[in-house]
Amino acid sequence: MCGIVGYVGSRQAAPIMLDGLKRLEYRGYDSAGIVVCSGEGLTLCKTKGYVDHLSDMVCNGDALRGTVGLGHTRWATHGRPSDENAHPHLSDGGKIAVVHNGIIENYAQLREMLVAKGVTFRSETDTEVAVNLISYFYKGDLLKAVAEAALRLEGSYALGILCEDCPDMIVAVRKESPLILGIGRGENFLASDVTALIPHTRDVIYMEDGEIATLTKDEVRVYSRDLVEIKKETARVEWDISAAEKGGYEHFMFKEIMEQPEAIRKTVSPRLRGGRVQIEGLDFTPEYLKSLKKIYLVGCGSAYHVGVVAKYNMEKMLRIPVETALASEFRYSSPLVDERTLVICISQSGETADTIAAMREAKRLGAKVLSIVNVMGSTIANESDYCVYTWAGPEIAVATTKAYSTQLAVTYLLTLYFAELLGVIPDDEYKKLVEALSELPEKVDEILKNKEHIQYLASLYFNKDNIFFIGRNIDYALTLEASLKLKEISYIHSDAYAAGELKHGTISLIEDGTLVIAMASYVRLLEKTISNIVEVRSRGAEILTLTTKSAEAQVSRVSDHVIAIPDAEEMVLPSLAVVPMQLFAYYVALSRGCSIDKPRNLAKSVTVE
Ligand code: GLU
Repeated sequence: MCGIVGYVGSRQAAPIMLDGLKRLEYRGYDSAGIVVCSGEGLTLCKTKGYVDHLSDMVCNGDALRGTVGLGHTRWATHGRPSDENAHPHLSDGGKIAVVHNGIIENYAQLREMLVAKGVTFRSETDTEVAVNLISYFYKGDLLKAVAEAALRLEGSYALGILCEDCPDMIVAVRKESPLILGIGRGENFLASDVTALIPHTRDVIYMEDGEIATLTKDEVRVYSRDLVEIKKETARVEWDISAAEKGGYEHFMFKEIMEQPEAIRKTVSPRLRGGRVQIEGLDFTPEYLKSLKKIYLVGCGSAYHVGVVAKYNMEKMLRIPVETALASEFRYSSPLVDERTLVICISQSGETADTIAAMREAKRLGAKVLSIVNVMGSTIANESDYCVYTWAGPEIAVATTKAYSTQLAVTYLLTLYFAELLGVIPDDEYKKLVEALSELPEKVDEILKNKEHIQYLASLYFNKDNIFFIGRNIDYALTLEASLKLKEISYIHSDAYAAGELKHGTISLIEDGTLVIAMASYVRLLEKTISNIVEVRSRGAEILTLTTKSAEAQVSRVSDHVIAIPDAEEMVLPSLAVVPMQLFAYYVALSRGCSIDKPRNLAKSVTVE
């Protein structure tokens, strides 16, 4: 996983690429590099570390002159982060340069074969095999050489390729890693993500698996793997440029937390028409839904946690067995899936490798796959039978907030849509829930207006080494997300427990001063959760409880501090309860001086298994 940018035109390429790399840095950031082609050969600079460091090394781009270039930010998979392993990689002899996103799975065999032919390798990466394989096939026609090499490369790759013999052309090829072409006037672009393209153009072509493209300043051509030219549609990106920038906030994560009312509105309101849930592209029939033996919700990390909330909601309303699965486990667990199973795959980027694999396995077994995805044209969006976009706009911070919230909103829409088709929801209940959905943005806004209270609480607790989250039912589902958020960005160890489960073992860890955060928004089980709070409190725990306004007085009696969220229908409560927990994680990380948008060891979309 990484970011790729490419430019061909009349302007100097290096500054454009550095700017693009900064925008893509969230995709991977252990090293960065650029190469430009000037007619006098290839000039390259690469280094371990952030793009800013690279930028200094090349005097903001002035030191590398040329109007064609490629750039890369790396998230290492093969070989540690180092100057030598940073991309671009040159072929032995230096004629061809490559940037790569993904993993070449058969690199060891290919490397052996190439070494036997006398090729010298300079890095530990799998990528260097790709560039040398292209060079091996290169007999004066770069496009042909790339096509030949692509036939032999196994695994996942998005490759940008430059050759000193054709100084005004970039060749690109992709398989299971995203690559987008940006169409300009007298200049063209290449990037892993539209974020890097929108300062220059909104007209894009989404490359699909196996496709190869050539870019010169005046034209872009796309070919199939056997080099038959393909006519591709140009799509228009409507995202606002400011949406991809920090918009005055200190961190993308905070900006994205604050954008949630708007993001949820964008997800929900176009799908609530005339008081009914209508989701574009879905044509499920009552017969099909009635035939289902099971619904699977599959995802990784926060997307999986969305699934855990949705399981409670869907099962309760639809009375169909609903199972959640971690995508990385699903594939290898011989899942009981057939044509009477609906598999719902959740992924912000639509490129999460584990979820892609789970989706393909589900399809192979005969299930229909419905995906919940943010990024248009992504692999999961393209390959699933149905895709419901979250329309959250770009999410840059590694720790997800608005993607989680909009995915959650889609699951409510789906629950209502299915319930109506199945005829299992009384009309007044349906109306109430539709209304609750449309009120969500306002209520989230109300919570955000009280953020100073959460900041104060964070200032009390940011020094803790261990934190426990407890909750029941949907609150339990939320503790998983609240705990993950805190761990991801503040590096505080925390655990999430079903409140009734603590006494079966973990309660032994509770001692004087241990912070227990109790999620108690699910008023129906309030008394039970209060009992669990009392259990840990009497063993010395400090208690911070999250509940609804109407239950505030009741939980205050057993808590040191309380966060009160607006009352709402049970189904949508998680959308409210998660927000203070995102803010809490954010402010705690801020107090601890952590790298909030780029937490250590993480990357935004995990495109490796
Ligand atoms: N597998 C390549 C490497 O380790 C590319 C990783 C990436 O996508 O950044 O260098």
